[in-house]
Amino acid sequence: MYQFCMKKSNLIGLNEAELVKVAESLGGRSFRGRQLYHEIYRRREFSLDQMTELPKKFRSQLEQSFEIRVPQIHDRQQSEDGTIKFLFRLSDAKYIESVLIPEDHRRTLCISSQVGCDVGCTFCMTAQMGFHRNLTPGEILGQVLAIARDGCLSQPGFNVVFMGMGEPLYNYRNVMKAFRIMTDSKALGLSYRKITVSTSGVVPVLSRMRSETELPNLAISLNATRNDVRDELMPINQKWDLNGLLDVCRSFPSKLRRRITFEYVLLSGVTDSDRDAYRLITLLKGMKAKVNLIPYNPDPALPFDRPTPDRVEQFREILMRASISTFVRRTRGDDISAACGQLAHLESESHG
Ligand code: SAH
Ligand code: SF4
Repeated sequence: MYQFCMKKSNLIGLNEAELVKVAESLGGRSFRGRQLYHEIYRRREFSLDQMTELPKKFRSQLEQSFEIRVPQIHDRQQSEDGTIKFLFRLSDAKYIESVLIPEDHRRTLCISSQVGCDVGCTFCMTAQMGFHRNLTPGEILGQVLAIARDGCLSQPGFNVVFMGMGEPLYNYRNVMKAFRIMTDSKALGLSYRKITVSTSGVVPVLSRMRSETELPNLAISLNATRNDVRDELMPINQKWDLNGLLDVCRSFPSKLRRRITFEYVLLSGVTDSDRDAYRLITLLKGMKAKVNLIPYNPDPALPFDRPTPDRVEQFREILMRASISTFVRRTRGDDISAACGQLAHLESESHG
């Protein structure tokens, strides 16, 4: 006997107004939608059965067409330094990765915005898997909610960084919808200052972001100081070059213009010379900027090397002498390939 199973819509990913509409469409009062919003995001209750505040009839009506679907944790690997890499299996059997990084007083959750990435940076493992699809708002939020449910985010303060797989500004609508639910005090209640979106430099979207009322922190993956080098490393530079990228960073209205972080991957013999450091100072002149130096995380499939610690230190010193706040990103989760640019999952099951 065949059973026809219409896929139910996911309630995770819907905002308050949409949940109100869901409630009304089922003949319920609008406050039932607001209750649902509270139950899902604030109380992190993922079973309709357990939502005893809601009338039983309403819940059973909901159950007919909706469900609460959190991405499934397919695998988790813990590094010697405490970093945990989560492998999520999505409902179409695609996989994404997220990384939880414990630091002294906080935890940072690095989440994905797309399955794969089509920007094609030559030093990045995610680029090797190509682009599959954008994540939905529910899948973006689902990474945070699933890890919270797994018990790994029990402490109240944590940061979220969009530095996993994908280019978040190529999935801007879904990323911003998830961001608004994350920051809503009636939902996840994270401070918008604790959320960072990292981009390879999608200038038209950055330009559009200037008119948002609330923004996450911005991190720009600069990674080179000359257009010819950046053209090679990050093909997106052939569309929007360093001048256009830095101009749009400078043009953020002052109320939104918090300090922008510039990420800079140090590739031995390619981007790590003293001259690069001096050029970087010139490029950032007059900007409220912070620099994160990321020593390249090697992969045998890619033709780059990590600079020596001395080289990294020398590069940092040059920037510090020019009064630019500069941090060297400590490599975390090395033994489980959970570091920046190492997230990629090539296996993908086909529908059975
Ligand atoms: N697509 C976005 C966010 C994900 S990549 C972006 O590019 O900003 C997150 C960071 O990892 C970027 O700064 C990127 O430059 C860096 N990165 C990519 N591959 C890396 C590698 N192999 N070693 C070190 N950093 C890497
Ligand atoms: Fe995509 Fe970022 Fe990797 Fe470039 S560095 S390929 S933009 S994930």
